[in-house]
Amino acid sequence: MTPFRQNFIDGEWVGDAGSRNINPSDTGDVVGDYASAGAAQAGQAIAAAKAAFPAWSRSGPLARHAVLKKASDEILARKDEIGRNLAREEGKTLAEGIGETIRAAQIFDFFAGETLRLSGEVVPSVRPGVGVEITREAVGVVGIITPWNFPIAIPAWKIAPALAHGNTIVFKPAELVPESAWSIVDILHRAGLPKGVLNLVMGKGSVVGQAMLDSPDVNAITFTGSVGTGKRVAAASIEHMRKFQLEMGGKNPLVVLDDADLAVAVDCALNGAFFSTGQRCTASSRLIVTDGIHDRFVDALKDRMSKLVVGDALDAQTQIGPVVDATQLKQDEDYIAIGRAEGAELAFGGERLDRKTPGFYLQPALLTQATNTMRSSREEIFGPVASVIRVKDYDEALTVANDTPFGLTSGICTSSLKHATHFKRNSEAGMVMVNLPTAGVDFHVPFGGRKGSSYGPREQGRYAAEFYTTVKTAYTFAG
Ligand code: NAD
Repeated sequence: MTPFRQNFIDGEWVGDAGSRNINPSDTGDVVGDYASAGAAQAGQAIAAAKAAFPAWSRSGPLARHAVLKKASDEILARKDEIGRNLAREEGKTLAEGIGETIRAAQIFDFFAGETLRLSGEVVPSVRPGVGVEITREAVGVVGIITPWNFPIAIPAWKIAPALAHGNTIVFKPAELVPESAWSIVDILHRAGLPKGVLNLVMGKGSVVGQAMLDSPDVNAITFTGSVGTGKRVAAASIEHMRKFQLEMGGKNPLVVLDDADLAVAVDCALNGAFFSTGQRCTASSRLIVTDGIHDRFVDALKDRMSKLVVGDALDAQTQIGPVVDATQLKQDEDYIAIGRAEGAELAFGGERLDRKTPGFYLQPALLTQATNTMRSSREEIFGPVASVIRVKDYDEALTVANDTPFGLTSGICTSSLKHATHFKRNSEAGMVMVNLPTAGVDFHVPFGGRKGSSYGPREQGRYAAEFYTTVKTAYTFAG
C-alpha cells in the first residue's frame, strides 16, 4: 500500500495529501504521497520551534546525546530499508543509497559524541583580578533547506549539529525526495525529542522555503542547493540580519598529468564524473588532461564507460541509476547539445536508454575537444556529462582548473610530489584530492568551498560549531 506521510509540527503529524513521490527508475512505481505545507503551516512550525528553544537550549549534553545516539542506532539497524527507499525516490543505486544511509547514521553518532565534548575557554584578562570566559551558545531557530541529490546525508549533516548544539529546527526538504526526510524526522521524534524541537514542513520552495526566509523568527538558515536559490537565501537573510550558510554548485576540475598512473586516473574520472549519475556538487565535470597522456586517457575512459551498467537503481548489477526526473534529463541533454554546438565532440554516450520499466535513463556522456570557455565547461550541468579539456602542461592545467566561478573540490592525478604539493597549495577550491576522485568526502572533517560554491562557515565535523553556535565573552571581577 502506498504510504501517506504528513508534516510534523509541534509534535503532531498534520496535513492533507499534496504531492506524489515517483520512482525515476520506474515512473509507474509510487514511493508515497506527502502532505504539502503552506505558508501558514510554515509559520506554525517556526512558532513551535521558537517556543521549544529555551528548554532545549538548556537541556544539557546528556539529553541531546541520548536522542542523537538512539537515532544513529535506528538508522543503522534499518539501513537496507531506508537505503532502498532512498534509491527508489532519488535514483542512485541501491549500494549508494545504503551507503548514504550508513553515512547519515555515522553523522548522528559523531554529533552524539560532540554533545559530550563541548567546551569553552577561560583566559586571564589584561586587567588584574578579572577573569574572561569564552563560551558557545545555541543560535536559536535554525531553518534547514536541502536539495534532492543527498536525501538523507545532507539533512543529517545539518540536523545533527543543530540539535547537538541546542538549536531548534524547521526543516524543509526538497520536493523530489520527501521519504528520506520523513524517515529521519520520524526516527528522531521516536528517539525522544521534545515537541517543537524539530519540525518538518514538506512543500514547495517558493511557498514553504520562502515563508522561512521571510520570517524574523528564524535566527539562522543553512541551505544547500542551486546558486540561484542560494542568492535568494542570502538576500532575505541580510534583510533580517540573520546568520546564513550556503552550499551551492560546482564545476570541479580533475587534472590528469602525463606522469599519472593511467588506471588510477581513469578510475578517478569514472567515479568522480559519473557515479551517483553525476548528480553530485562534487562531481568531476571538467577533466583537464595534458597532451602526453590525453589520447590514452580518453581511449581508456571511453572503454570503461562502454562497460558501465546503466539501469534500474534497485538492480544489483546497476552501476549508474537514472537521472532524477524529466526536467533534469532535459537539462543534461540540452548541455550536451550546447557543448556540441560550441565545437566539442560527443566522444561517447549522451543518448536516452530504454529499460524494462519507463524511467529517465541516460548513457553517461563524454565531450572531448572542449575548451574552458564553452558554456558546457563553465555552468553546472548536474548530470552524467563530463568534458575533456586538453592542455600542454601542469602550469596551464592549474590555470584552467582555477578559471571557474566555482570552487568546491578539485583533484589531480600525478606521481609527482612537486606537482601534487603545488596543486594542493594553489588550487582555489575548498577541498583538494590527490589521486582520488573529487567526490567522496569524510563525515568528520570540514566540507565546503570557495567562490560561487559556498558562503559562510564550513559544514561537518568540529567546524560545524562555527555555524550552529554563537560565541559569548563574559567578564568577572573577583578582586
Ligand atoms: P534548488 O536550489 O532548486 O533547491 C534547493 C532547496 O531550496 C529545495 O528544498 C527547494 O525547495 C528550496 N527552494 C526553492 N526555492 C526556494 C525559495 N524561494 N525560498 C526558499 N527555498 C527555496 O536546488 P536542487 O535542484 O534541489 O539541488 C541541486 C543543486 O544543489 C545543485 O546546484 C548542486 O550543486 C547543489 N548542491 C550543493 C551541495 C554542496 O554542498 N555544495 C551539495 C548538494 C547539492
